[in-house]
Amino acid sequence: MSIIELSGVTQRYETPGKASTTALADVNLSIEEGEFITLLGPSGCGKTTLMRAVGGLVTPTEGLVRVNDRQVNGPNLDCAIVFQSFALMPWATVLDNVTFGLEMRRVGKAERIEKALDAIRLVGLEGFEDKYPKQLSGGMQQRVGLARALVVPAPILLMDEPFGALDQQTRRYMQEELLRIWQADRRTVIFVTHDMEEALLLGDKVVLMSARPGRIEEVIDVKFARPRNPEEVERAPEFAEMKEYLWQRLRDMHEVHAA
Ligand code: ADP
Ligand code: MG
Repeated sequence: MSIIELSGVTQRYETPGKASTTALADVNLSIEEGEFITLLGPSGCGKTTLMRAVGGLVTPTEGLVRVNDRQVNGPNLDCAIVFQSFALMPWATVLDNVTFGLEMRRVGKAERIEKALDAIRLVGLEGFEDKYPKQLSGGMQQRVGLARALVVPAPILLMDEPFGALDQQTRRYMQEELLRIWQADRRTVIFVTHDMEEALLLGDKVVLMSARPGRIEEVIDVKFARPRNPEEVERAPEFAEMKEYLWQRLRDMHEVHAA
């Protein structure tokens, strides 16, 4: 049984006075427990929408999302989410932002703080526990977002372009950290990115989406050995081949879309 199952998922957004937008059209996707899925596609193709549907933050117009064999119809506590836009609480310190999800799950105070401090250390923010989001750079704020998701004992991690705002060096460091963390606890991950290299470095499968209305174009197996070392992966001839293939596919889609 798959841990995540989308069948016939269509999502339309209605904006008063405007034509409706079909963000997802008949999406069918099964994800196995412990899989690391990267979701790759052009901007506006519905990646965030798909992720929000799994997390129960939107209810599809048509079709069904099942997680752990239950239909999702409301915020899904099986999922921890790292949002594209950080979504930190500006009035709360780093520590309070990170403990928040545990508080919601009724974890006791001492344990909350211990777990949060671990997660803060893990993302390299030791010493910043008492700072407020606006005192941090964009990259650091996104690391708070990551810590806040990692600390939650949910079996599924949903990550929406989490490293998009980071400089290249920090991004690489975070990719390595994420691989290491994932290797240790093997959560099921859906990682949204529009970066082909990132999709190949991290994923067991790349789910390639087409431009709007978003559909699943292809699911590509990525067979680089685990545990993965990004530098080694990048040197493998298959990496260049797969990158070229993804590049072609995305370009073809763009041309179809632009025509
Ligand atoms: P992606 O994450 O791949 O960039 P999104 O899922 O954010 O794509 O958006 C897909 C499409 O749906 C876009 O055209 C976007 O403008 C539209 N859309 C997303 N959210 C909303 C919303 N809440 N209301 C109206 N349109 C939306
Ligand atoms: Mg998005």
